[in-house]
Amino acid sequence: MSVQPVKEVPPAPASQSNVSGRKEYDFFKVVQDYLDKASKTINLEPYVRTILSQPKNEIIVNFPVRMDNGEVRLFKGYRVQHNNLLGPFKGGMRFHPSVTLDDVKALAAMMTWKAALMRLPYGGGKGGIKFDPNAVSKHELQKITRRFTHALGSNIGPDYDIPAPDVGTGSQTMAWMMDTYANMVGSYQKQAVKGVVTGKPVASGGTLGRAKATGQGMVFCVIEWAKQTGFNLEGSTMIVQGFGNVGSNCAVILSKLGVSTIAVGDHTGYLYNPEGFNAHKLQDYVEAHGSIAGYPGGKAITREEFFATKCDIFAPSALENQIGEQEAKALQCKLIVEGANGPTNPAGERILQERGIDILPDVLANSGGVTVSYYEWVQNKRSESWTEEEVDAKLEKAMQRAYREVSDFARTKKCDMRVAAYALALQRIEAVYKEREIFP
Ligand code: NAD
Repeated sequence: MSVQPVKEVPPAPASQSNVSGRKEYDFFKVVQDYLDKASKTINLEPYVRTILSQPKNEIIVNFPVRMDNGEVRLFKGYRVQHNNLLGPFKGGMRFHPSVTLDDVKALAAMMTWKAALMRLPYGGGKGGIKFDPNAVSKHELQKITRRFTHALGSNIGPDYDIPAPDVGTGSQTMAWMMDTYANMVGSYQKQAVKGVVTGKPVASGGTLGRAKATGQGMVFCVIEWAKQTGFNLEGSTMIVQGFGNVGSNCAVILSKLGVSTIAVGDHTGYLYNPEGFNAHKLQDYVEAHGSIAGYPGGKAITREEFFATKCDIFAPSALENQIGEQEAKALQCKLIVEGANGPTNPAGERILQERGIDILPDVLANSGGVTVSYYEWVQNKRSESWTEEEVDAKLEKAMQRAYREVSDFARTKKCDMRVAAYALALQRIEAVYKEREIFP
C-alpha cells in the first residue's frame, strides 16, 4: 500500500457538489428509528435504548489556520463519541463541505453497532471538518489536519478514541494526525502512541490490507450472498457510486471474480461503458486526478441514467441518502451492497423491499474497514507486522461469520438484514450493561 496522494483538483461547481441538494435529510433520526425498530425485535431493556439514543460526548472545536494567501480562516471540527462500553471510541474522520453535527452523530452511532456486530473491543465515534479538501492546497490540508488534531488534544488517544479515514481523508491524513499527536505527548510516550489512528501508511505503522479492507469486506459479503442465492458472479455486471477508497477497491476486487463495472459516478458526474471499465486503471486515474472527471473510455451520463442502468449489483460507496424513492424505483439490479454509510433512505428501502431487491446493509457490508483497523491497532500494540494473506484470511473469517449470523437472525426473526445487524449488535451491548450495571 502506498500513501494515497492528496486530491488536488479544483472544487466541483456548486450545482454538482451536492448530488441532490437533500440537506433537509435527518440522518440521525433515521438511525434512531432503526435503533427503535431493532430494540422492539429483541425486547431491549428500555434503559439500554435510552443510553444509546444519544452520544456520550459531542465535541466541537473552532480553530484558525493561516492559508497560503496569508488570510486566516476559521474551521469547525467535530468529534462525536457515541459509546465506549465495549472499548475505546473508534471511527473515521470526514472532510467534506456537507459535514454537520447531526450527520456525525448518526455515523458515530453506526460505528457502535458495527464494532459490536464484528465482536471488536471498540465503541463508536466519528468526526470531521466542514470544508472541501479539494479546494485547498496540500500544504493547507496538512496545516488544517494538524491544527484539528491539536485542537482535539486529549479527546483522542490510542486507548481512548481512535480515528481512521473516511470521506475526504486517507492514509496521508492519518500520518499527519499520528505525527501531530506523537509530538503532543512528549518524548517518553512518542513511540507508544502509533495506535492513536488506524488506516496509516504501512511504513508509518499501518497494516497491509487496510487500504482495500472496506471494499474487500463488501466482496466477502457479496460472495456469501451469491452462494446463498445461487447467483453466478462470473460474467455479472455492477455499477458503483463513489470511486474513492471504498468504491474503487470493491470494483477492483470484484473484477478479479469476473464482475464487470459498467457505470461509475462521483462528485463530478457519471460515466457509462457497456464493455466494462478497467477498474484498476480507473482507480489509478482517480488517485492521480482526484476524480473520474476526464477519464477516457466512458460516456458521460446523467445521475438519473446512472441509477436506471441495468446491472446485477449496485455498490453505493459515496454518501448517505443517495437512494430515495425515485432512485429505488429506477434501479435495475438484484443486489445493493452498501459500501457507504446510510446510502439508502427509509422511503427508498421500502420500495426496494417491495421490488425484491436484496440489500446488504452498511453495518454489515462495510465493516471490513473497522475490522482491519482493529488488526492494525493490535499490531501496533504488539510491535508486529502481519502479512497481507494473514490479514485477508482473518477478515474473510470475520465477515463470513458476521454474514451468517445476520442472515440467520433475519430468517428466524423474520426481519430484514439491517434490523438483524442492529439487533445482534444491541444484544451484545445489552449483555454487558446487564453485567456491569450503571455507575455509580
Ligand atoms: P473517499 O473520500 O475515498 O471517496 C468518496 C467518494 O464519494 C469519492 O469518489 C467522491 O467523489 C464521492 N462523492 C463525494 N461526494 C459525492 C456526491 N455528492 N455525489 C456522488 N459522489 C460523491 O471516501 P471513502 O473512504 O471511500 O468513503 C465512502 C463511503 O464509505 C462513506 O460513506 C464512508 O463513511 C463509508 N465507509 C468508509 C470506510 C473506509 O474505510 N474508508 C469504511 C466504512 C464505510
